Amino acid sequence: MSNLNHKTGSARAKLRFWGWGYADEQLGDDELQMIDLMLEELMPGGSVEVDEPQLDDFKLPPPRVEVPQHSWVFTSISKYDRLVHSFGKSYADLVGMLLRRVDNPPDWVCFPRDESDVERILAHATENNIAVIPFGGGTSVCGAVEPAVGNSYRATISLDLEHFNRVLEIDQTSRAARVQAGILGPVLEAALRPHGLTLRHFPQSFKFSTLGGWIATRAGGHFATRYTHVDDFFESTRMITPPWNHPDATIAGFGCGSLAGSYGTGIRGYTWCDHRGMGQTAAGAAMASIDQSTLREF
Ligand SMILES: Cc1cc2nc3c(=O)[nH]c(=O)nc-3n(C[C@H](O)[C@H](O)[C@H](O)COP(=O)(O)OP(=O)(O)OC[C@H]3O[C@@H](n4cnc5c(N)ncnc54)[C@H](O)[C@@H]3O)c2cc1C
Repeated sequence: MSNLNHKTGSARAKLRFWGWGYADEQLGDDELQMIDLMLEELMPGGSVEVDEPQLDDFKLPPPRVEVPQHSWVFTSISKYDRLVHSFGKSYADLVGMLLRRVDNPPDWVCFPRDESDVERILAHATENNIAVIPFGGGTSVCGAVEPAVGNSYRATISLDLEHFNRVLEIDQTSRAARVQAGILGPVLEAALRPHGLTLRHFPQSFKFSTLGGWIATRAGGHFATRYTHVDDFFESTRMITPPWNHPDATIAGFGCGSLAGSYGTGIRGYTWCDHRGMGQTAAGAAMASIDQSTLREF
């Protein structure tokens, strides 16, 4: 809690609102040199320099509906939070920001702390005809987190799952873990490491993407071999949706296939991820021992 930004309910380090990375991270000299080389190759005629976007460059319309006053979930209507949640991280998204053109900012950004907060948001949104868009790490490259929902809704909420960031339970016998869906790749690996486990799912966006986002997009972890897709690893998942929000509702592995890659079917509260193929294919372990000799086998 100590790190909590009380204005927003967000506790994460400040993100660069218009592009990839944390706000205080800069490219190194070697990276800048590489970009110069690429630009020479791709744009022999020269490139156009655009100033780095600043918050003051953007004028957003006021939220179309008011945030409830009492006993409500952490909610932000700050320009910074609305801009962070306006786009994913595709090239088109970046260009939108460089042009200072944001057509669909969310009206509110909610930061639920637990599943009952999510249920309250969904109930309120249902009653008031507000569209809710789950937001994991916001690294989507296909417009999936942009609140572009047309005119049939009164407003939009970006529902940020950053506080769903814990490993809840570990079953050493079956090498499985019950994990909250908003956990970032590095946080998940750091939590599994003391138990001698790894999920071994490493998409290029690993640093900024989440378990829930991986499942919704059926992500591929291109920095691993053999089992690389997230649907190789998850065995059951719990969904919270407006008509069906029973806390114990869990979809077991065989039924999960249709949920992987299912943008927008509901909010994943937590997921059981397991090791795949251990025993018969020892080298293909997902939740494997992480000593060097094991890693070299993959
Ligand atoms: C530089 C870069 C590299 C990338 N590398 C890869 C790669 O190697 N492999 C790959 O597959 N993809 C890659 N991607 C794409 C992207 O990172 C993946 O699609 C990733 O799985 C998205 O995860 P996220 O947590 O950022 O989800 P978000 O972008 O926040 O959301 C993606 C979708 O999932 C939904 N969603 C998120 N969390 C939940 C939840 N808890 N419950 C329900 N729905 C939810 C959102 O509403 C949205 O529809 C890359 C993107 C970038 C910018």
